[in-house]
Amino acid sequence: MNKSKAKLIIFTGPSGVGKGTILSDFFKKVDNNIVYSISNTTRLPRDGEINGMHYFFISKDEFEKMINEDAFLEYACYSGNYYGTNKNFVMQKIKEGKSVLLEIELKGALQVMKKCPDAVTIFIKPPTFEELEKRLRGRHSESEESILKRLESAKEELNNADKFHYVIENDIVDKAVDELIAIYNKETRNE
Ligand code: 5GP
Repeated sequence: MNKSKAKLIIFTGPSGVGKGTILSDFFKKVDNNIVYSISNTTRLPRDGEINGMHYFFISKDEFEKMINEDAFLEYACYSGNYYGTNKNFVMQKIKEGKSVLLEIELKGALQVMKKCPDAVTIFIKPPTFEELEKRLRGRHSESEESILKRLESAKEELNNADKFHYVIENDIVDKAVDELIAIYNKETRNE
């Protein structure tokens, strides 16, 4: 059987849109030719988040040291914290023939699009802005200040959705997951 093509996949969408839920289902259903890139962040862990699984939680000093060492494929400041993608991890996996999925916000996504024009880019949007706010508040994971910053970023992110190859509306999660699987299969299939 033919091996699949290794692709860098950028997965972006406003905070609260349901990216995590879609991805946890997606990774249960697809083959092991794709890996999730675990980001570094200076944000504090939420309840239930595990270091090395959800993120590598590091200090601002450690993050800035990594910036100086050119360790990031991209990084951004979002809602008062740094987030960045480990360059070595991504390059190594692509070399091994694995696709890599980056779950990142807009500024980082635009950086990767410039550096890696072959990347497949996917934007997840909510059915409406009101629904996004409802979901973000319903998570009870953020302070009011953080919610307001995230909603502000969401407006800019939604205004840039047309820069992505694919836009998936997350109205019904199962449908969004099926669409993501179809894109993954199409983009990585060897003709
Ligand atoms: P959260 O704090 O909700 O986990 O993440 C906030 C935002 O940062 C989300 O939109 C998430 O996709 C994004 N994010 C997570 N990791 C990275 C990363 O490595 N780089 C960038 N630019 N954004 C990231």
